[in-house]
Amino acid sequence: MSTLREGARIAVLGAGLAGLAAATQLKSDGFQVTVFEARDRSGGRVWSESISAGREEPCIIERGAEFVLNGYTTMRRLLAHTGLELVDTGMSYYVRALADTPKISTDDVVEAGRAAAAIARTYDTPPSAETVLQRLELSDRLVDALRGRIEISTAVAADQVSADTLEHIASFEPLPSWRVSGGNQELPKALAARLGSAVRYREYVHSVQDSGAGVVVETTGGVAVFDAVVVALPLSLIRDAATIALPLPGWKKAALGRVLQGDAAKLHLPLRSAPKTSAVMSTNGRFWTWTATDSTGTVTPVLNSFMGSPGALDRAAGSDDDFQAWITHAQHIRPDLDFDESEAVTTIWRHDPLARGAYAAFGPGGGKKDSEELERSVGHIYFAGEYADPDFTGLMEGALRSGERAAARIHHAAVGVAAEVVGVQ
Ligand SMILES: Cc1cc2nc3c(=O)[nH]c(=O)nc-3n(C[C@H](O)[C@H](O)[C@H](O)COP(=O)(O)OP(=O)(O)OC[C@H]3O[C@@H](n4cnc5c(N)ncnc54)[C@H](O)[C@@H]3O)c2cc1C
Repeated sequence: MSTLREGARIAVLGAGLAGLAAATQLKSDGFQVTVFEARDRSGGRVWSESISAGREEPCIIERGAEFVLNGYTTMRRLLAHTGLELVDTGMSYYVRALADTPKISTDDVVEAGRAAAAIARTYDTPPSAETVLQRLELSDRLVDALRGRIEISTAVAADQVSADTLEHIASFEPLPSWRVSGGNQELPKALAARLGSAVRYREYVHSVQDSGAGVVVETTGGVAVFDAVVVALPLSLIRDAATIALPLPGWKKAALGRVLQGDAAKLHLPLRSAPKTSAVMSTNGRFWTWTATDSTGTVTPVLNSFMGSPGALDRAAGSDDDFQAWITHAQHIRPDLDFDESEAVTTIWRHDPLARGAYAAFGPGGGKKDSEELERSVGHIYFAGEYADPDFTGLMEGALRSGERAAARIHHAAVGVAAEVVGVQ
């Protein structure tokens, strides 16, 4: 059995935020790091692109992760470290007007959300969010508006997701929300640039095998042996043995199997003129729309939209899988905007073979305990990803924290002293 030592060779699989956070920390701890990334870019589900929307400055759209929210301490530290800045979006992720629910106001949903969160707190082990919704003595329409809000944000059905989620969703405070100046992908780009040639793009990992004398990693580029490996690949891929050969014990497979895989998509519709900032949700369509300011200090002439939960995506896909119904519906609920219909951009994450879905959520009873098993190493194979973080599950902050914890565990194993587990604030 090989033992980890200082300066050991570590492979990190995946150059998303979890993998890059792990690799950055490992490099600074003196390990020899190699990052294998199947795409030709870093960032994974953080993907910023520039579109022209009739403005001289480029309009940055976020095809994946968008909002930097309250409590993102690890992300803020890494942004400061790489010289990047956040810009206020001028709107609040947390508060959304209702488009297609007559006679129900945003305040009604806020109140219902708080009542549901209070009920959820009375359980020792939280049940599903739907169980709590059924206990609300409110009109069906109001309960469905809250259900819609839960399903959009968690990207899974309310009868599957833990009622714990209400604690986050039901904050409903108009807190500010930010994005990284120039696009969220500037952070993974900056982290990858600091790692230099240690990041190997277009190298798809086929198999990982702990031989006892080292961990053998087989990629499209060849076979190499490492002292330890950090698997920072998306949940859907690592739990599919047909995608990557990664022998795992039963307890690990069971923990991975318990996590819910959320399904979500983004839509961007260029506008002819710059609107005001806004946030408007469609309960029936299970999507919300917003307009926001960018680093120029003005509102970007683009309508952004996010749809969440598998059922919503199935309904919106249409027989041609072109999501035209979503485009039409979004335009319908935003009569205040002047659409330039020529350039709709849809990003359907279930179609992305290197993501196969949006992000994870825990079901009833899931949470901290599952998280420990999800991150627990198997021999010299360590695990990190958004799906494994107990507090910021499914989010950029969760991916970063999980990556830094994997690095701290390796450091601990190598030097034999308790390493400071950064990222757990
Ligand atoms: C539509 C959408 C909206 C979101 N909105 C927000 C938001 O507003 N705020 C927020 O905080 N979070 C948001 N998120 C979540 C956020 O994007 C993720 O939590 C985070 O980026 C996941 O990072 P990760 O490193 O765990 O995984 P990933 O980013 O998926 O990284 C994994 C990497 O592994 C690579 N890979 C896969 N298979 C292989 C293989 N076989 N070999 C080599 N490489 C491979 C992938 O290409 C990828 O680069 C959103 C996500 C989506 C999809």
